[in-house]
Amino acid sequence: MIEINNLKFSYKRNKMVIDDISLNIEKGYIHGLLGKNGIGKTTLLKLMAGLLFPNSGDIEVLGYTPMQRKVGFLQDIFFLSEEFDVYKMSIENYVKLNSVFYPKFSETDFYNYLEEFEITDRKSKLNALSFGTKKKVIIAFGLATHARLMILDEPTNGLDIPSKAQFRKIILKAMNDETTIIISTHQVRDLHNLIDSILIMDERNILINASNREITSKLYFGVEKDISNIDNILYSEDNIGGNLFVKENRENLESNLDIELFFNAVFHNKEKIKSILSNNNK
Ligand code: ADP
Repeated sequence: MIEINNLKFSYKRNKMVIDDISLNIEKGYIHGLLGKNGIGKTTLLKLMAGLLFPNSGDIEVLGYTPMQRKVGFLQDIFFLSEEFDVYKMSIENYVKLNSVFYPKFSETDFYNYLEEFEITDRKSKLNALSFGTKKKVIIAFGLATHARLMILDEPTNGLDIPSKAQFRKIILKAMNDETTIIISTHQVRDLHNLIDSILIMDERNILINASNREITSKLYFGVEKDISNIDNILYSEDNIGGNLFVKENRENLESNLDIELFFNAVFHNKEKIKSILSNNNK
C-alpha cells in the first residue's frame, strides 16, 4: 500500500530531515507514527501525500507516485493537517463544496460522525468554532470520504479528554479492510489501544516499524512491586502500584502492549530493542 525506498529530503541544503528511509506500510491497519516534536513526522507524511517532493528515492502509495498528484490518487487519500484554514461558511456548505472531490463520500456517515462528536448545528459557521470543534468537523469529513488512505497529522492535538475518547470510537467505526489510517502524534498515550502497528521516527530515519503482535511476541510488558529478580529487563519505570517494565519475551508469555512504556523503552535502549525486534527467529 505504501512502499518507500531510500527516501531523502531536506528543506535546506546540508540539513537532511529524512535520510535514506525505506519502509513498507500494509493496508487495512491503523498505523501510529510516533516521534518527538520536530523530528520529521509531518515532513514524512507530506511526502507520502505528494505535498512535498523527495530529493531522491522512491515513494509509491496506492500504486501511484504521490508527487504526480493524479486525480485517482487525490480521490483516494485524505490528509488532515495539524494546522488548517477554514472558510467563513457553514458546516453544511463546507461539505457540499468539498465532498465533490471524493466519489465515495457519504453524507450520512459524515453527519453520524458529527453526532458522535456531539456537533449538532449544521449551520454553524466553521470560522466561529473553537479549534477543537473545527478539527472534529474536518476529521468527520475525512472519514466520510472513504478514501483508502487517511493520513491524520496530530489529530488529537487540541482535543479535550472526552473528545479524544470520541475520536477513538469514531476511528474504530470507520475502519475496514480496505482502509489504511496513519496517525502521527507526539502524545503517545493518545493512541493506546487504537493502533495495530507502530512506526517510531528518530533523527532522520525510522527506528521501529513493527506490528503490535510482533512487539508483544518479542517483548513482555509487566508490572511488579519488586523487579530485582526479573531477568532480561530492558527498561522499567516507577508507577503507583509497582514498577512497569519491559523485558525480552524469551518464554513466549502473553502481555498487553503499553505503547508509552514501549516508546520510552525504545529511546532508553535503542540498539538492543531494535535488534530484538529485527530478529526473525521467533
Ligand atoms: P514533526 O512533525 O515531527 O514535529 P516536522 O516534519 O514538522 O516535524 O519538522 C521536521 C524538521 O523540519 C524541523 O526541524 C522543522 O523545523 C523543519 N521544517 C519543517 N517545515 C519546514 C519548512 N517549511 N522549512 C524549513 N524547515 C522546516
